[in-house]
Amino acid sequence: AIVIEKLNKWFGEFHVLEDIDLTVARGERIVICGPSGSGKSTLIRCINRLEPHQKGRIVVNGTELTDNLKHIDQVRSDVGMVFQHFNLFPHLTVLDNCTLAPIWVRKKPRAEAEATAMKFLERVRIADQAQKYPGQLSGGQQQRVAIARALCMTPSIMLFDEPTSALDPEMVKEVLDTMIMLAGEGMTMLCVTHEMGFARAVADRVIFMDRGEIVEQNAPGPFFDDPQNERTRQFLSQIL
Ligand code: ATP
Ligand code: MG
Repeated sequence: AIVIEKLNKWFGEFHVLEDIDLTVARGERIVICGPSGSGKSTLIRCINRLEPHQKGRIVVNGTELTDNLKHIDQVRSDVGMVFQHFNLFPHLTVLDNCTLAPIWVRKKPRAEAEATAMKFLERVRIADQAQKYPGQLSGGQQQRVAIARALCMTPSIMLFDEPTSALDPEMVKEVLDTMIMLAGEGMTMLCVTHEMGFARAVADRVIFMDRGEIVEQNAPGPFFDDPQNERTRQFLSQIL
């Protein structure tokens, strides 16, 4: 579970996150949307402390995120992250991308890490590409490798930051299908995405952010069909 209370963050003078309150229960699926620059990426990067915050509290699975680095390692291995641009290691094979952190962070024996990696590569239907390098794969395939790589650390929470927005249209579905599979297995998920079909299909809650604030949140049905805030309405009219 994630508990965020009165979270505030600044980049220098710029107030990027303002009094964010958000609780995500175990197994809950949250979609975050909002205009460019509204703070969506910054918010999810704060949850595994890729960004530090200055005020308020973030508690992940019972551990409060502070400057205490020992706790941060523990939290990071329990919170998987998938980025817009895949961020795979180009000089490592698909398999080695998936075993790197389990071997070096989790101290798993190589054979065990490879067996686990193959299991997850099969789950995202890409096991036959295990010996290739990321540059030899399509964008959709690379993103599925990135998802498998995150799963190899057996996280209890998965964060997605616009995982399909850098993909050609014909590859969006294969990545969304992988995310839908994860959701069906009960993974706790926070997804920044403008894929509203995905949001309707799997989200328990859709959150709209604007200018560093959570402006509105609701179950997908009422969120899309009857938005309450003028800014939400304006945003939805642009993307739907
Ligand atoms: P997008 O939809 O374009 O990805 P976003 O909602 O994810 O936007 P953020 O990336 O969180 O937005 O950025 C929010 C604001 O903070 C933007 O104005 C951005 O320029 C600013 N910002 C982000 N990262 C930094 C940084 N490292 N230093 C200074 N300003 C930053
Ligand atoms: Mg972003």
